[in-house]
Amino acid sequence: MSFQQLGLTEALLTAVAEQGYTTPTPVQKNTIPLILEGKDILAGAQTGTGKTASFTLPLLQRLAENIDLHQKPRRVRALILTPTRELTMQVYESVKTYGKYLPLQTEAVVGGASISLQTRNLRRGCDIVVATPGRLMDHVQQRNINLSSIEILVLDEADRMLDMGFLPDIRRIMALLPKGRQSLLFSATVANAVKTLAAQLLNNPVEVDVAKQNATADNVTEQIYAIGREYKRELLSYLIGSNNWKQVLVFVRTKHGADRLEQQLIIDGIRTAALHGDKTQGARNKALEAFKDGKVAVLVATDVAARGLDIDDLPHGVNFDLPHVPEDYIHRIGRTGRAGASGVALSLVCPEEAYALSEIEKLLKRQIPRVADTGYEPVSLKVMDAPKKHIPNKNTGKKDLRHSKKPASRKAKAAQGEPRKPQREQRRGKK
Ligand code: AMP
Repeated sequence: MSFQQLGLTEALLTAVAEQGYTTPTPVQKNTIPLILEGKDILAGAQTGTGKTASFTLPLLQRLAENIDLHQKPRRVRALILTPTRELTMQVYESVKTYGKYLPLQTEAVVGGASISLQTRNLRRGCDIVVATPGRLMDHVQQRNINLSSIEILVLDEADRMLDMGFLPDIRRIMALLPKGRQSLLFSATVANAVKTLAAQLLNNPVEVDVAKQNATADNVTEQIYAIGREYKRELLSYLIGSNNWKQVLVFVRTKHGADRLEQQLIIDGIRTAALHGDKTQGARNKALEAFKDGKVAVLVATDVAARGLDIDDLPHGVNFDLPHVPEDYIHRIGRTGRAGASGVALSLVCPEEAYALSEIEKLLKRQIPRVADTGYEPVSLKVMDAPKKHIPNKNTGKKDLRHSKKPASRKAKAAQGEPRKPQREQRRGKK
């Protein structure tokens, strides 16, 4: 199937051809005709599947079909919400790229950038706004933007927006939108929270499931290195150096962990930058550009910062730590092997992460292959004890998140011969 057969107009076909795309990806084939018909969509599609073009192209076409060029100032007719600044900027660039032959004006609204410049641009009027929910709400409160003319709403990476706690902002925004609008919801994973949001947001939606729910891209080779925590950094440096990897995205759980690993890899002689939420927008852009241009070989990133990064043909992804949330494993793997390119995704897993790994494999419904010989002392990834489990509360019957094992009392510890912790008074006396 070609892009022509999807029903797109010449202006869009030219822009798409300039990008070098010859065939639509599955998500594009499945959603573009439906969106052009005006249908609401719930699409399960992860990053790397071509999802941005799948909503941007028909959105541009529908807006261009009945544009009133005399309207001054232009009213906002399409709103695209994304979870992060990086993703917002990427989607904004895509809208501009695909819409370059159409007379539509687009603005990006993100935190960490000058609000006064955004205010001026919004007040001047535009057709499309791409935004993160928090900063958009700031503009709504300051009456810089009026959402009452929105014809199309897109929620991109809805699962991530919910993970990041944007539900209250999304609800407030939804309340300001006209009822008759078209709504499109894209999400890498469609868990219950996303379904609940979809039920409130979408009107008789068509469900398009291209991601193969909770599956990772077929073109990515996954491997687990079972290794002691203390050897992870050394193994990572070895893998990068011995294989001469030029572009590796390394995921860590915490901002502090990202900074620390960055420093350690630099000491190992590997050109490295870190990307996380505590860095200024300027520093984040700089790190990303250095990585894209090949000035640094390794980008160490937290999940939130890595979300939505669009790096063409990223060949290597490494989970230095496993993610807290099993779904994030799928998001992380989505960074590698994008749009058909092949990739390798490695996870360095220590015994303390055995439970997290088992949760990921439960979600994937398959085992991730283990590397037989890591070059280090073998360690076991057998799950010994779930750290926490849901136990019904005797009084309420509701599930509480409690430790599966009750912590032993001081008396019981003493009975087992464990030394007692010093009492507060004793500790004070020591100082
Ligand atoms: P996305 O899933 O929207 O983040 O897109 C992933 C990558 O695929 C981006 O780099 C796009 O430029 C690229 N892409 C999107 N559609 C196509 C297509 N039909 N053919 C080839 N590459 C594409």
